[in-house]
Amino acid sequence: MYTVGEEEIEALARVIRSKALFRYGVGHECDRFEERYAAHLGVKHFALSASGSNALVAALVALGIGPGDEVLIPAHTYMATGTAVLAAGAIPVIVDVDDTITIDPQAIEAAIGPQTRAVIPVHMWGAACNMDAIMDIAESKGLLVLEDVCQGIGGSYNGRKLGSIGHAGAFSFNFFKNMSGGEGGGIATSDPKVAERARCYIDPCHFYWQGRNDETKPFAGVGARASELLGAMLNVQLDRLDGMIGAMRAEKKKILSGTKHLDNLGLRASPMNSADHDCATQVMFTLPNEAAAQAFVKTMPAVIAGKTGRHTFTQWDQVLMHEGAHHQALNPYKLTENKGLRTEYKEGMCKSSLEILDRTVMVATNPQHSDDEIEAIIHNIDQAARVALEDVAMADVVLKNQQAVDLQKFDA
Ligand SMILES: *Cc1c(COP(=O)(O)O)cnc(C)c1O
Repeated sequence: MYTVGEEEIEALARVIRSKALFRYGVGHECDRFEERYAAHLGVKHFALSASGSNALVAALVALGIGPGDEVLIPAHTYMATGTAVLAAGAIPVIVDVDDTITIDPQAIEAAIGPQTRAVIPVHMWGAACNMDAIMDIAESKGLLVLEDVCQGIGGSYNGRKLGSIGHAGAFSFNFFKNMSGGEGGGIATSDPKVAERARCYIDPCHFYWQGRNDETKPFAGVGARASELLGAMLNVQLDRLDGMIGAMRAEKKKILSGTKHLDNLGLRASPMNSADHDCATQVMFTLPNEAAAQAFVKTMPAVIAGKTGRHTFTQWDQVLMHEGAHHQALNPYKLTENKGLRTEYKEGMCKSSLEILDRTVMVATNPQHSDDEIEAIIHNIDQAARVALEDVAMADVVLKNQQAVDLQKFDA
């Protein structure tokens, strides 16, 4: 969750007073942000757009994904990851997440078919995917990698910024993300052709505003141009980002060390692919079962990862209903190019993902939390874990006693 203050108000007021609300040839805020953010990420290009959903489609289109292609996506992500694949005319193939609740590299490898062209690792809740394993698989199998960084802004994977590792990264700057302009999005890439094609998708008139380019053939896209108000807001937000992530990481560290003693009881910190570099927007715990997770979230403010209502594949209506476009002639599930692709989402699929998601709970951090508030959260977790895990721990004791009795019998 982002923070805002007087600096944003001043930046917006400045743009409004200047009346320079349009980015091309009038204002400079969007250009300035794109340059600064590309440098921050360590990529060559960043292209702003009006939303994260649009940025995902622009990136897929820019990478050349379309009808005839399968794109692997995780069972746990915001539904726009899946609908973006459909908007590009391709078919989303849903694969398992592992205990980190990010896409499982082994599941990626197992799911690759002859028509699989790309994979979208999603850095969910600010936690990095296993990018080394994913990039290795992608390289050996010739897959394109589009990172969905909408929830991973400010995070890294072993020292490299999220969104700078794959062939492209898609970002969202909506209300819920680590930097916000209310709404907004963008694409990061170091490939100039991908950047150019993304800009073409984002703005049908891009060649007029930015000059024609002999190498990139224009194509019809949609209009999702960023306004100078978004650029101005993000320029301020970028200055806040590292401090904010630092505060959340410190809070997460305190919560984890303050709740370590609950490990014995069965409250385990969820495994992470890059524990020291995540956004730390959430502290995640893996409980022994769903009942314990349910009891935990009844006792304190926390959320079960699988029960948000929109982040698990069972909640993606358009995908499950095969409503892949506004018109059936454009519906990827019905296109002849997509015949023979894996378009079925079977009852009982990704069972292990659902099982993991239903027993993973998340406690939100906030860069504005005081030390006292953090102490209160640690206290709440202690209480909730005891309520949630007492029965489980008791069942475990009964089981161990029984096993001991059985062993004695065996000895006799
Ligand atoms: C927020 C989000 C998006 C879409 O972003 P919008 O700006 O709301 O369109 C896509 N993917 C993930 C994982 C998200 O969290």
